[in-house]
Amino acid sequence: MSEALSDHAVHTEHLTKVYKDFWGRDKVRALDDLNLTIHRGEVFGLLGPNGSGKSTTIKLLLGLIFPTAGSASVLGHPAGSTQVNEKVGFLPEESYLYRFLNGEETLRFYGRLFKLSRRDLNRRVPELLDVVGLDAKARKRKLREYSKGMARRIGLAQALINNPDLILLDEPTTGLDPIGTREMKDLILSLKAQGKTVLLCSHLLADVQDVCDRITILFGGRMRELGHVRDLLQVKDITQVQARSLTDSQIEELRQFLARMGAQTEVTHPTTTLEDLFMRVVGENARIAGASGDGNGNATITARAGMATTPVKETTSADR
Ligand code: ADP
Ligand code: MG
Repeated sequence: MSEALSDHAVHTEHLTKVYKDFWGRDKVRALDDLNLTIHRGEVFGLLGPNGSGKSTTIKLLLGLIFPTAGSASVLGHPAGSTQVNEKVGFLPEESYLYRFLNGEETLRFYGRLFKLSRRDLNRRVPELLDVVGLDAKARKRKLREYSKGMARRIGLAQALINNPDLILLDEPTTGLDPIGTREMKDLILSLKAQGKTVLLCSHLLADVQDVCDRITILFGGRMRELGHVRDLLQVKDITQVQARSLTDSQIEELRQFLARMGAQTEVTHPTTTLEDLFMRVVGENARIAGASGDGNGNATITARAGMATTPVKETTSADR
């Protein structure tokens, strides 16, 4: 593995997974030719509807399953090698924790798996329980009595027990209420502030929009979109001119000026959301597959050219 590659938290080349049926015949192409690089220190979002290949990607990165074709490296080593797994934390979609242990025992159990000393455990376990917001009472309750939100929290604490450099979170906010969701997002941002790399899978778009630096959208196992969230959400065929405290007659003058340039103008505040982008990307690909001025006197003037659709290529600031 070259030096350059070890700078990456994750690097995949033509990563492909075809699940076979009982007779060894190809059944589902769950992931198809994924070429992805995640930089160290980045919060990266893997988006896509159910069945688009998100969990498959994570399992391949962890070495829990093997690729049909292509390769993946994690923290500079082949996916699944022991020295990598010691540096990786994983919150599965469904927690596989022992229902008869309480929160504290659960973390001690996983800490021992990572060979933490008793001294480290005594320090790290209460610290992590604090970090994920499980109070003294919750710590002593058996996991089978945990709500979905509490289960997500203890799952995250478990994923962090080995102080990992890379954390893989599969649908981390599923089952959390808006407050729990906000707290999970803040936790992800605090991991980033500590210099960790986070790869998070989700079909919950608002969650991703708030915390991710870059995202990719998967559909049918293929990457359909890749880029910085802020760039992807930029409406490129609209130019926005912002001016403070314009009078109505000045706005009218500007409008006439733009009209003389042949631009269609409207005074408005254009926004798009990750949800719009997601619906467009998934909608387009589903079709192809044959599958189913404000009160403060501030003015925003927009001019629109033709609408364009984006091929799958990373959207960067340079494209603006
Ligand atoms: P996501 O996490 O995006 O919802 P998955 O990666 O779990 O999607 O699944 C992608 C596709 O692969 C789906 O069509 C799913 O049914 C299929 N799949 C996942 N795991 C298996 C498996 N063990 N055997 C056969 N097919 C599978
Ligand atoms: Mg999944």
